[in-house]
Amino acid sequence: MTFTFVTLFPNLMQGYFQDSILKRALDAERFHIAFVDPRDFSRCKHKKVDDTAFSGGAGMVMSPQPMYDALEHLHQQYDNLHVIFPTPVGKPFTQNDAKRLAQKEHVVFISGRYEGIDERVIEQYGDELFSIGDYILTGGELPSLVMCDAIARNIDGVLGNSDSLDVESFENHLLEAPSFTKPQHFRGLSAPSEYLKGNHSKIAALKIGLSECKTKFFRPKRLITEQKRKLYEK
Ligand code: SAM
Repeated sequence: MTFTFVTLFPNLMQGYFQDSILKRALDAERFHIAFVDPRDFSRCKHKKVDDTAFSGGAGMVMSPQPMYDALEHLHQQYDNLHVIFPTPVGKPFTQNDAKRLAQKEHVVFISGRYEGIDERVIEQYGDELFSIGDYILTGGELPSLVMCDAIARNIDGVLGNSDSLDVESFENHLLEAPSFTKPQHFRGLSAPSEYLKGNHSKIAALKIGLSECKTKFFRPKRLITEQKRKLYEK
């Protein structure tokens, strides 16, 4: 699988892949990355990529021409592109999206800057529009990296132990139970003794109880949705 990032700031993004799990996966060619700078496609002699908004207002808007040409260039080079625009007005990005998109051949993330990208580019080329939360960031680079990271973990061979994917939060209606490691006692606080006794069915039951407590506290809607689902099933 390939991720291509269309961004005015490739340097800002490249560092994320230079360490840890994603670096190992890149070195092992579990996936590939590429960067395209729309400034390289600007036909303006000063390589300008933005302009004032027609509707007025303070901010600048990313001009359509460099983005159009960058995307045309990508479409001419590759088949089966899936183009994603990170934007605060997009649908919320979820774990299900991460798993679904891990099956794609080539995902392209388009990072906006300033007040965003001329809407015509988004209409013409956007396969999906995603938001990573109800707040405004200065650019689409972080949202693109967030989504790429979440997707990449679901590509075969990226995680050392893919079993860990099955028990994580958002795999079902419960959040994952709390984790503990050695030592059992630390600064007057103890890890649950049941975790250490090796009785796997008791550990599993305890984990479900703790998961329910966490979910009730942090994401009560997930439990309610599950209760409703069970009611409908009856
Ligand atoms: N004026 C836009 C609005 O109010 O919806 C915000 C533009 S923002 C300053 C610039 C770029 O950052 C956007 O084009 C998008 O690529 C990215 N961005 C900012 N916040 C985001 C979020 N919550 N989710 C996804 N992308 C975001």
